[in-house]
Amino acid sequence: MSGPGRSGLLFDESTLFERSRPGRTGVQVEPLPASVPLIDPQAIWGAEHVRDDIEGFPELSEFDVVRHFTRISQWNLGIDSAAYPLGSCTMKYNPKLNEVVAALAGFQSLHPLAPDEATQGILALGHALEQALIEISGLDRVTLQPAAGAQGEFVGMQLVQAYHRAHGGASRNEVIIPDTAHGTNPASAALSGMQVVEVKSGPDGTLTPEALAAVVGPRTSALMLTNPNTLGIFEHHVQDLANVIHEAGGLVYLDGANMNALLGVAKPGDMGVDVMHFNLHKTFSTPHGGGGPGSGPVAVRNLLAPYLPTPIIRKEGDRYRLDHEFPHSIGRVHAFYGNVGMWIRALAYIRSLGGTGLGEVTQMAVLNANYLLERLREHYGTAQTGRVMHECVLTDKLQQEHHVSTADIGKRLMDHGFHPPTIYFPLVIAGALMIEPTETESLDSLDGLADSLIAIAQEAKTDPEHVRAAPHRTFVRRVDEVRAARKPKLRWTPPERE
Ligand SMILES: *Cc1c(COP(=O)(O)O)cnc(C)c1O
Repeated sequence: MSGPGRSGLLFDESTLFERSRPGRTGVQVEPLPASVPLIDPQAIWGAEHVRDDIEGFPELSEFDVVRHFTRISQWNLGIDSAAYPLGSCTMKYNPKLNEVVAALAGFQSLHPLAPDEATQGILALGHALEQALIEISGLDRVTLQPAAGAQGEFVGMQLVQAYHRAHGGASRNEVIIPDTAHGTNPASAALSGMQVVEVKSGPDGTLTPEALAAVVGPRTSALMLTNPNTLGIFEHHVQDLANVIHEAGGLVYLDGANMNALLGVAKPGDMGVDVMHFNLHKTFSTPHGGGGPGSGPVAVRNLLAPYLPTPIIRKEGDRYRLDHEFPHSIGRVHAFYGNVGMWIRALAYIRSLGGTGLGEVTQMAVLNANYLLERLREHYGTAQTGRVMHECVLTDKLQQEHHVSTADIGKRLMDHGFHPPTIYFPLVIAGALMIEPTETESLDSLDGLADSLIAIAQEAKTDPEHVRAAPHRTFVRRVDEVRAARKPKLRWTPPERE
C-alpha cells in the first residue's frame, strides 16, 4: 500500500504534486460525424502558430485533477475552515447565497459587448448598487469601475487633480497622509504624480487638527485619511480635520477599507469627506485573497461628479443605458463595466441584510474586536487602553524576554488551525499583531482564537524554542522568506525543465 504517489494521506510528501502518467486523460470526446465540416487551424492562423502538443503538459484523469486541487486547498487556511483574523483585510465569512446569485445563468452568460437593450438587468443591478453605496456613504455619485481599493485611491486622486486643474489649482500637488496609513495610500498619490507629505499621529494614535494645520498650505491637494484608522481607532477629530483642509482649499479623501466599523451607523459624507473608495471584497463579503477579483467603487460629492470615469450608468424612466458623453471625465479605468461578479455578490449581501442588518454588522464587528482585546490584554503588549472599533493591535512586547517574536506567534497560530493576524503593520507600532475578528465569528470561535493566543503566550515562557520553530503541523513548514522574496517561484514548470 506504499510507494510513490499512491498514498491517500493529506500530508504525505510522496503525493505532493507530480501525478502525471503518459496517456492518462480526463475526457473522451466522441469523433464528430463526417457531415460536420472541420476547421483547419493551420489554414486560419498559419502552421507556425499552431502546435499539436504542449511539451511536458501533465496527463491526468478527471479524478486525479479533482483530488489534486481538493488536497492542495486543504494545505491552506481559508475563511471556510476557521477564523481568519487578518487585520485591515476584513476576512468575513462570504455567505454562499452570494455565490448562488452570482452563478444565475443570466449573469453567467452575459456578454460584455452586448448592447444596452440586451443588458437592462445588469445595468439595473449596477444602478441599485450605486444607490446603496450612495446611501451608505452619504455622498452623491458612485462609479463602480475600479477593480480594487488601490485603484479606487488612484481614481480618487485623479478626480481631485482634475477638480483642482478646473478651479485654478493646478499647482496643488501635495497629498497629506498620516503615518498610520496603508502603503497603498502614498503609492497611489505618488503614481498620480503628487508629492506625499507624511504627518505624525498624536499620542492617542489619531491625527490632531494642530498637526494637520502645521503641514497644510497653498500646494495642498488633499488629505488621505483612513477612518477608523489602521490602529482601529476612530479619528474623532474628523470634522475639524476636514475644516482645516477645506479652509486651505484642499479636499478630503477617505480610504474606506475600514467601512466595516461605520456601515449603517455613520456616514463619511457627514464627516466632511469629499471622495472615498469602498472595498466590496472586504466590507461586502465578496471573496478575496490570492489576488482574486476585487472591486473598489468610488463615491464622490457632486463637485467631483463631472470628472468620474466613463461610462456612467444612466436611468431614464424605467430604462438604463451606459452614458459615454462626459466631456470632463478622467476617462475609462477598467475594461467593459468593471468586475461585475463582485457587484452581484455585494448587492446580494446588502439586500439580504437591509439597512438595520448592516448596522448590526458594524455593532457586532466592534463588539468582537473589543471582546478579544479584553481577553488578551494581560497576555500581550498593547498600546490601546480604551475601546477600539473593529480591530485591535497587540504586540510581542511581553514575549521579547523569551526571544519570541510577532512572526513566531503568527506561525504558531497556524498550528492551532487559524490564519495569522496581520503582522508588523501598522509600522508605527513595534512588533504589531493586528487582529480583526469581523462580525461573522461566533463567541465559540472568538474564544477558540483567544484560547490559542493565550496558550502561545504561555508556551513562549515554558518552551520558547518550540514557538520559534513553528509551524509544526502545517504542510509547508517555516519557509525561507528571503529566498521566497528573492527567487519567487510563481508558476509551475514541468519537472524535466526545472
Ligand atoms: C486593503 C486596504 C487597502 C487596499 O485595498 P485593495 O483592495 O487591497 O487594493 C487600502 N487601505 C487599507 C486600509 C486597506 O486595508
